[in-house]
Amino acid sequence: MPNQSLYSAIRDHDFSETTCFLCGGDVENDLKSREHVFPKWLLHHFDLWDQPITLLNGTKLAYRQLVIPCCLVCNNEYLSNIEQEVQERFSAGAADVASMDRGRLLLWVLKIFYGLLYRELFLSIDRRDPGAGNIVGPEDMEQFQLLHFILQSCRVSMQFSIMDSDIPASLFVFDVQEPSSKKLKFDYKDDVVNRTLYLRLGKVGILAAFDMGAQTLPGKEFFSRYQGYPLHPLQFGELGANLFMKARVLNRTPKVIIGESPELISFSVLSIAGLSPNPVFGGWEAEDMAEMLMMFLGYSRELVMPVAGRNATWLENGDGSVRFISMDAPPWNTLGEAEE
Ligand SMILES: [Zn+2]
Repeated sequence: MPNQSLYSAIRDHDFSETTCFLCGGDVENDLKSREHVFPKWLLHHFDLWDQPITLLNGTKLAYRQLVIPCCLVCNNEYLSNIEQEVQERFSAGAADVASMDRGRLLLWVLKIFYGLLYRELFLSIDRRDPGAGNIVGPEDMEQFQLLHFILQSCRVSMQFSIMDSDIPASLFVFDVQEPSSKKLKFDYKDDVVNRTLYLRLGKVGILAAFDMGAQTLPGKEFFSRYQGYPLHPLQFGELGANLFMKARVLNRTPKVIIGESPELISFSVLSIAGLSPNPVFGGWEAEDMAEMLMMFLGYSRELVMPVAGRNATWLENGDGSVRFISMDAPPWNTLGEAEE
């Protein structure tokens, strides 16, 4: 049974295996009442069904086991039509994904981010001993509840008004060259604390910061240069490192006001800058970016920071034009495939 009341779905959610992750309604503890965090079509397309994923607490799980409790109504009425649309657009290419209604695309990536968090953290919180294994503080929990609230917009009509963005997040889609090696076609990274997501699906690259739109304006300046251009996966990785780093130096906690009338829920985000004279985003140390680039690209420190205090970049040529990097070097070329 779906839970109709929005507030009880959020506030009284008990995070059990028999509670729908989305609406908070009761579900059976069976396979029918489970939703895959990464959709089934995606797992099959990228041959991930039996591949392992390592969760935050270090346990390993096959991707196919990455499921969360979800009632049939939420699954069949609210989530599946978004899923179907993304799948169709994905087959058509990055431009089709980019032209999707941004609110719906946000729901799709947010379900993955929140669903993973749900599987990794919320379901393992021990209710009898709330202090144990709790790596999430109350402030983080509050932000996660806001994300859960945004997810409700797939089943409850909600009006968003955001000073700095069209949607309550910062979301960017890129064209990426697809590696021929199957193992290199898919890549996922997230940062739970700073609420960012990096997803490379063959030819489609998606970056998202669940920051109520804080990176939307600066991102329009920085990321738009590289959109619609066939990026090398390394270049897309560098963009991911930039988005993750920027989220880390955000100096504000976005302020949200939620209003409820019988017909409509309104979700308003005040100006990110607010009245504070401090810059919205701080700067970062080259050393920290080097760590981030190493994580994204798998390169050594010497490669990502050839000169102390300066990070290497793969995005531009010497004259400032966007650099084209071909896929003819290992492991991205067909040689990588032959070695499998
Ligand atoms: Zn439900």
